[in-house]
Order: sequence, then C-alpha cells, then structure tokens
Amino acid sequence: MSFSTKVKEELSACIPLGRHCQLAELAAMISLCGRVVLENETASIHLQTENRAIIRKYFTLLKKAFIINTDVCNESDTIRVLEAIKAYNGVEPIHDLRGGVNSLLVSRNCCKRAYLRGAFTCAGSMSDPKKGYHLELVCNHLGQAEQLKEIIRSFGLEARTIVRKKYYVVYLKESAGIVDLLNIMGAHHSLMDLENLRIEKEVRNSVNRQVNCEAANITKTVTAASRQIEDIMILRERYGFNNLPDNLRAMAEMRLEYPESSLKELGELLDPPVGKSGVNHRLRKLSELADKLRSDDGL
Ligand SMILES: [Zn+2]
Repeated sequence: MSFSTKVKEELSACIPLGRHCQLAELAAMISLCGRVVLENETASIHLQTENRAIIRKYFTLLKKAFIINTDVCNESDTIRVLEAIKAYNGVEPIHDLRGGVNSLLVSRNCCKRAYLRGAFTCAGSMSDPKKGYHLELVCNHLGQAEQLKEIIRSFGLEARTIVRKKYYVVYLKESAGIVDLLNIMGAHHSLMDLENLRIEKEVRNSVNRQVNCEAANITKTVTAASRQIEDIMILRERYGFNNLPDNLRAMAEMRLEYPESSLKELGELLDPPVGKSGVNHRLRKLSELADKLRSDDGL
C-alpha cells in the first residue's frame, strides 16, 4: 500500500463529532470530487472516486449530519443535504462550487481541519517519503485552490499553486510543513511513520557525510605522504642522509619507515617526540631541499 493510501485510510476512519465539522468535511468532499446535478427539476449529488473508504466515509458523515439511514441517498435526502449546504452558502447558486465553499462553513479552526481532511481524502496525494517530500491537492477551479491555500495559511503553513493541464494544484514540498499538515488533518500514525523515515534518512546522510569526509582526509594524507617520500628519496640519492642535520635526518628516516602514518603519529615516534607543527616544519624543510636539487638539475 502506498504511503498516500495509508494516509487516506487513516483519515477516512476519523469521523468528527461536531455537526459543524461534519458539514465542513462533507462540503470539501462534494466541492472537490462531487457534482450537484440539476435535471428535470430534481437534484442529485454525484461523487466520483475510486476509493471505497471515501464512499463509506461520505455515507457515514451523511448519516451523522442528516440522520439519513440508507446507503443510497434518495432524492429527498439529496435536497436536505443541498438545503443544509445552501443555508451556509447564502445566495450562491448551489450547483456552483467553483469559488470554494462558503467561508461560514470553515470559520472555526476545528472545521478548517475537517475541511482539509475531506479535501485530502478526495483530492490529495503525497509522494513516498523514502523518495522525496511532496504533498498536493488537485482542484478543478482556481477559487477552490485559493481557498485551500488560505485555510492552510491560517495554520502558519505556506502552500503554493501550479497549473497542471486544466487543474489547479496546491502543494507543499517541505518535510516539516507536510508533517504539520498531517497533524492538522489528524493523520497521527502517518505523521509518526513520516517522522521515523525522516530521522532514519537524516542519520544515514550524516553517517555518509562522515564516511566521505574521513575518506577525503585519508586520501589527502596519502597524497601528501607520497609527495614527501618522493622528496626524501631524491635527497637520499643526490644529497645523502649523512649530510642532513640530525633532526631532518631522523624525520626523513621515520617518514620512509612509516609511509602511512599521520603527522601527529610521526611526531610521537620521534625521540624526543615532536608536535604536529614541528613535524610539518621539518617535512617542509626536506621538500625545500629536494626542490632546490630539482632546480639545480634544471640548470
Ligand atoms: Zn467544527
């Protein structure tokens, strides 16, 4: 099951207690994946979805908000639903949901949450958090997208809109924002799963960074050491270790004997021990001498 489907399953099982919230959630569902059809003076609500859990939730909400006891909404029931929404919608024509729902339906915070929950269940999806962070809500009309964005903003989150084909897509791309939105909608289990994945990923990235960094340091040490060894070999051949001052000679011999040791380790091996900067200084001197021999060769 995809992460998105899991979130929807969780949200579908979440039934708000207040009638205000039930109406807000129903309004989101009807507005975003439903249609009000007026035909031969009869009204009906068509809800289009492939997800059975959504249909089940829709009927549960209808039953709770309107005490409708069948699984099939008959004509008089439809009119009751429409009348209820109309009462909120004021003068707006009932079949015109393009501008989003009446703001009275989503004036309370609890109702805003319910509205977002209904919207995500019907028109939302999110990417697998293992692959990336993206959550979106697909709207048929600009007004709906703007209303959704406004509701999301009221919780301190910044969503964006893009036009994709003939749809207006409201989306969030940042993991922290997506976690907050799941929390607002009430998808607490999904939120925990997402957080766990996020932490896992962060730990893995940080370990990788550390490993890469260590590897880079080793390469650096090895490259520097092989250059030093090359210089020391030239000195031994062309100049002779015996002609070197004692401290440089000891350093040169130690480097040849321990080609893989770090400067700090080399310093500890010397007698008497020398600090890292002392080792560095002596090796630099040796390189300068070798460079001098090389340039003498050039002449
Ligand atoms: Zn409410």
